[in-house]
Amino acid sequence: MQVIDVYTKKAYTCKKCNGEIYYGKITDDKGNIYTVDGHMPNGKYGKETNVISGAVDALVKDRLHECSKHYVEEAIAKAPAPPTGGGVKIPEKTTFANFQAEYVNEADRVQWNDVVAKVVELTILAQKKLDEYPEITNPALKGLITNQAFAVWSSIKESQRNG
Ligand SMILES: [Zn+2]
Repeated sequence: MQVIDVYTKKAYTCKKCNGEIYYGKITDDKGNIYTVDGHMPNGKYGKETNVISGAVDALVKDRLHECSKHYVEEAIAKAPAPPTGGGVKIPEKTTFANFQAEYVNEADRVQWNDVVAKVVELTILAQKKLDEYPEITNPALKGLITNQAFAVWSSIKESQRNG
């Protein structure tokens, strides 16, 4: 069981513990979305949707919120097998465990890993910041803003070094 498509646009308050929660769709381990009728998600919202959703903690969005977890588990237990073939597929992980670099030396490898790790952290921070702006939902726009921020930030860094 996994939670996907967490609706980050709006935070809700748990009626039981007052904790901040979001809602996401529930899938099986293969990424097929559970629906109450076993049909494909009908694309509707609110009471008309057939998608089974569950509350997650605001900070840990892949884990079901403790207070309402049992409702979700009950709903999933009652639900027919989720429709396959149209759900959001979670890609299988590719492993590079046996990869040996031929052209990249040790020093470059270490430096490159540092650069990538730094970019990953900056991207996560950018995503967290972007989540504060519910107006911006388009992933392409988010990517554009993040790239712009990288460009502006590196020129600031550059001028700090030179100045
Ligand atoms: Zn709660």
